[in-house]
Amino acid sequence: MSSALKRGEPGWYYRLGAYFKEQFGQPVFKIPLDAGFSCPNRDGTIGIGGCSYCYNPSFSPHSRDNHPPALSEQLQKGKKKKPALYLAYFQSYTNTYAPLHKLKELYDEALSAPEVIGLSIATRPDCLSPAILDLLADYAERCHLWVEFGLQSAHDKTLKRINRGHSTADFLKAVKLTRSRGLRVCAHIILGLPGETPASFTETIDLINRSGVEGIKFHHLQVILGTPLAEDYKTGGVPVFDSLAHYLPHLCDCLELLNPSTVVHRLASQATSAELLIAPHWPESAGQIAAAVIGELKKRGTHQGSRFCK
Ligand code: SF4
Repeated sequence: MSSALKRGEPGWYYRLGAYFKEQFGQPVFKIPLDAGFSCPNRDGTIGIGGCSYCYNPSFSPHSRDNHPPALSEQLQKGKKKKPALYLAYFQSYTNTYAPLHKLKELYDEALSAPEVIGLSIATRPDCLSPAILDLLADYAERCHLWVEFGLQSAHDKTLKRINRGHSTADFLKAVKLTRSRGLRVCAHIILGLPGETPASFTETIDLINRSGVEGIKFHHLQVILGTPLAEDYKTGGVPVFDSLAHYLPHLCDCLELLNPSTVVHRLASQATSAELLIAPHWPESAGQIAAAVIGELKKRGTHQGSRFCK
């Protein structure tokens, strides 16, 4: 293994856990929250129907079919048995899509919970006004804060096809503005979107590298019941990675091209409801996926950033 990637243990890729260890000297866990937000790509402000793959409760442990429980209750439920530190992860829907006073109320409520040392706020690249950026910059002075942007693909054709309602230019502009306030940015991408090829995935990594984000979350395409994507899947129009073995080479190619200093927050999608997931069904846990990635990189004799070009 070359000396290019020094941070993190075991060092094959720069894990979020290793990053937290460097920052805090101990593990930090993210507790996913549903704060009752909506999304401008669903309510008609930007679009209707949402992104073609999105049935939001599928990636939140708190179903939107019912009113979400109070944040304090969600935070309490998400804690480990042993004492630990946490980030309140505003995950469901668009977590900057509300009046400023409401955002402040929710973020303050989360931060007031014991052992919560920061916030991770998931949003769209087109949903951050200068006033919201000011608000987030103020929180970043007092706590550990990440802003998470859904990008999904570097290809506008794909973004249109999946009804994202924003462009790659919107993403790059949002990252620039957010980073100019000194905020950490994590980008979400999906491998396997309709119409994309392995070359499309690596081009997305090129854009991620150029954008200057500090973190990345990889997802594999999942088809969820009740989404527009599920309709296309039924007619055979949407191939998926039917096993981890098929996903692994593409993920490892992306890791090799990724800037070695970019923190990897996640390697693959997680869906909490097996009943809602149409495909693919992988039996592996997150830990097993991580072990498989390390195994593949070891076999190749490579690591995150081994093919990164500045
Ligand atoms: S993925 Fe995010 S932006 Fe897209 S519809 Fe769902 S909540 Fe909205």
